[in-house]
Amino acid sequence: MNPFDYRRAEDADSAVAAVAGRPAAAFLGGGTNLVDHMKLGIANPELLVDVTRLPLGGVEPLEDGGVRVGAGVRNSDLAADPLIRERYPVLSQALLSGASGQLRNLATTGGNLLQRTRCVYFQDVTTPCNKREPGSGCSAIGGWNRYHAVLGASDQCVAVHPSDMAVALCALDAVVRVQGPGGHRGIPLVDFHRLPGEEPDRDTVLEHGELITSIDLPELPMAARSKYRKVRDRASYAFALVSVAAALDVAGGRVREARIAFGGLAHKPWRATRAEEALRGEPATARAFGAAADAELADARPLPGNGFKVPMARSALVSTLTELAGEDA
Ligand SMILES: Cc1cc2nc3c(=O)[nH]c(=O)nc-3n(C[C@H](O)[C@H](O)[C@H](O)COP(=O)(O)OP(=O)(O)OC[C@H]3O[C@@H](n4cnc5c(N)ncnc54)[C@H](O)[C@@H]3O)c2cc1C
Ligand code: SF4
Repeated sequence: MNPFDYRRAEDADSAVAAVAGRPAAAFLGGGTNLVDHMKLGIANPELLVDVTRLPLGGVEPLEDGGVRVGAGVRNSDLAADPLIRERYPVLSQALLSGASGQLRNLATTGGNLLQRTRCVYFQDVTTPCNKREPGSGCSAIGGWNRYHAVLGASDQCVAVHPSDMAVALCALDAVVRVQGPGGHRGIPLVDFHRLPGEEPDRDTVLEHGELITSIDLPELPMAARSKYRKVRDRASYAFALVSVAAALDVAGGRVREARIAFGGLAHKPWRATRAEEALRGEPATARAFGAAADAELADARPLPGNGFKVPMARSALVSTLTELAGEDA
């Protein structure tokens, strides 16, 4: 590991100024991803600005009926929060499906959103990887690509985004609030992570020096009946092959509205707008759920090692919606 400076931020303004003023500076949350990357030689920050003591640790109801989650809230605390469990169970379930108890006790909301891909080549500095070293090539395209993308990939990168939490936030229409050198802005979660395109080294639309301060969840009564389903190689402590976050509003046996996002399929949490559209007004049956999944997955382009993800995503969506419809009946 390279030598680096460490500073504990006293307030958000000074944290932003410290990172924005130095190209090789980074914010430090729980450190469960960034410090691993420093040990592996993937990240070499010269300065770490610790933001875990900033007053960003609350989960508060908003006047408009939503909930604000501070960027410093630990994953365990967020999963256990009564407001989250009651109003957005899909978020609590997604958090609890990730990592381990010890990791969730350290990991922060802000850091979780910005965790980087688990592509094995990204983590191995001896191999070409356009995300780690732009222009060096993509080892996964002709290599081991079982975990990789089937939607929205490019010829530069076929990695997937690893966060479970972000998939739930995507389905819930969350907004990421950030503070940067130029002021404050809100970024819809659906637009926060990027597809790889020609710049796979850029995971998100965040600029250097922008601090995530909170995530706002809108009021969404239908989310009280929502679920997260994660399919993986082991029952715990494994990243998703495929995951689904869904909320379903059914009345008189017909779908009034659905909110759906997939994980494990793309470089970003994949909001399934085509499936949502296909379901509106349809009977809440497995047949309609399957047709909605087919509509969403029609553009899937599997790699040689991951063709199984398409039927797996279809089954995961049909099962999740069937369970939710059963709860509504
Ligand atoms: C063995 C293992 C298994 C795991 N399994 C899963 C899993 O199944 N599912 C899953 O979703 N995750 C999993 N994880 C990942 C884990 O959830 C992340 O490591 C964690 O959420 C990152 O949060 P952190 O606070 O530790 O981030 P850090 O490591 O501190 O930071 C990560 C990134 O975010 C930046 N950052 C941190 N806070 C802010 C902020 N407020 N504003 C702007 N930038 C910020 C940092 O500069 C860094 O770039 C696993 C991790 C490990 C080690
Ligand atoms: S898929 Fe992306 S992260 Fe993996 S080797 Fe290719 S460029 Fe790197």
